[in-house]
Amino acid sequence: MKEPGAILLVACYELGHQPLAVAWPAAFLERAGYAPAVLDVSVEPFDAEKVARARLVAISVPMHTALRLGAGVAARVRAANPRCHIAFYGLYATLNADDLLAHAADSVLSGEVEQALVGLARDLDRSAEAASTEAPSLPRPVLEKLDFPVPSRAQLPALTRYAHVEKHGRLELSAYVEASRGCKHFCRHCPIPPVYGGRFFVVPEAVVLADVRQQVEAGATHVTFGDPDFLNGPGHALRMARALHAAFPALTFDFTAKVEHLLLQRDRLPELARLGAIFCVTAAESLSDTVLAHLDKGHTRVDIVEALRAVRAAGIAPRPTWVPFTPWSTLDDYRDLLDFVECHELVDAIDPVQYSIRLLVPPGSLLREHGALTPHLGALTEGAFHYRWTHPDPRMDRLAGAVAALVAEAADRREDAAATFGRVRRMADELAGAPARPAPVLPPGRERPPRLTEPWFC
Ligand code: SF4
Repeated sequence: MKEPGAILLVACYELGHQPLAVAWPAAFLERAGYAPAVLDVSVEPFDAEKVARARLVAISVPMHTALRLGAGVAARVRAANPRCHIAFYGLYATLNADDLLAHAADSVLSGEVEQALVGLARDLDRSAEAASTEAPSLPRPVLEKLDFPVPSRAQLPALTRYAHVEKHGRLELSAYVEASRGCKHFCRHCPIPPVYGGRFFVVPEAVVLADVRQQVEAGATHVTFGDPDFLNGPGHALRMARALHAAFPALTFDFTAKVEHLLLQRDRLPELARLGAIFCVTAAESLSDTVLAHLDKGHTRVDIVEALRAVRAAGIAPRPTWVPFTPWSTLDDYRDLLDFVECHELVDAIDPVQYSIRLLVPPGSLLREHGALTPHLGALTEGAFHYRWTHPDPRMDRLAGAVAALVAEAADRREDAAATFGRVRRMADELAGAPARPAPVLPPGRERPPRLTEPWFC
C-alpha cells in the first residue's frame, strides 16, 4: 500500500476551488508514509492508468453534486479495477451509506475523516489481499480532534484551472482554506448537523497560514475561508483574520456566516473589512418567516434586512444565497423575493442559479423528521440520493423546472445577471397573471461587487 499510487484520492466537485478535501487526506497519508496519487475529475479526464495502479480509491463527496458525479466515477473504477477497495468520504458519504454500500462503495466515512482514511489504508495493507468485502466499513461519522498537517497540494492541478475571484472587474487567482469544520447549529435542511451533531473543530492558525502561503506562492491574491460558518468561533475567526493580514497585508478574503452571526458579531465586521474581507456569503434562504421557521434558520426577514445593512456599513459586499423552492414557499413569496433583490440592489450580488435552488432532502436530513414536510414527501429517488417532494401548488414545481432551465442556459451564454434576473421575473409574473415588468436597468460597464466566478451549487 505504500508504493506510489497504491492509494488514489479522487475529487469530483468542490464548488470550483482546488480540492482541499483531497489535499488534506493526501497530507495525512503522506505523513503516515503513504504516497497517494490524486485526480480531480472536475478539471481532469478520468485516468484509467492511475485507477489500475490503485488498491484503494477514495472518492471525496463533500456535496450533493460531488456525490452524483462520484457514483459515476465509482462505476468506472469498478469496471477498470474490480479488485480495488472503493471508499466514499465526506459529508454525503454516511448520509447515503445504505445506497453506497449496496451499490458502489466498500467503505463510507464522514466527519473528521483523514486519520480514519489512514487507518483504512493500514487495515487494507495488513490484509493479504485488498478484497473489497474484507475491509471495514465505518458508517458512523468520525468526530475526533485531529492533528492537522499542512494540506498537500503539490500534485493537484494548478490554481489557474479553478474559480477565480473577480475584483474591480479583474479576474485573479483565488486560494481556498478552512479554519474550522462542522457547525454548532442545527438548520434542518443542512447536511452538516446529521454528521457533526452540533460540533465544530478549529484548525490551528499556523496550519491555515501555511496553506495560504503555498497558494499565494502559486499566485493567489485572494482567500476564500470555506468554513461552513466562519463565525462559529468568532475569537478564532478574528485571530485568524489578524494573522492573515499581518502575514499577507495585500491579500483580500471572503467568508461565509449565518445571518444570526452577522448580527451578533456586527461590531467585529468593520475590523474584518480592514483586515481584507471584501465579501461575505450568507445563507438567507427565504424571506418568508414561515419557511425560515420550518428550516429552523434562527433568523427572520427583518434580521436579513438588518444583516445586509450591517455588512454593507462595514464595507463588505453581501452575497446572500437562497432556497426559493420549498413546499411552503408560495408564488407570491417567489415574486416578493425578486422584488426584494431589486429593491435592495442585490441583482449583481446573486448568482442567477440562486433563483432556481430547490430544497434538497437527502437521507438523514433533519427535515425528514419534521412534520411539516410529511404531507409533501415522496420516496427516495433511486440513484439521485435525495427524497422527492411535491409542492401543493403545481405551478411552483413547473416554475422551478423552468427557472432551472433558464438560468442554466443563461450561465452557458454568460448572460448578464440583470438580464437573467429580468427574464426570471417575467416568467414568475406571467405565471401569476401579472403584467410583465422590464428588466432592471443597470449601467453598462458597471463595476460588479466582488465574487468568485463559480456559481454556487450544493
Ligand atoms: S449555520 Fe450554516 S452550516 Fe450551520 S447548520 Fe445552519 S446552514 Fe448548516
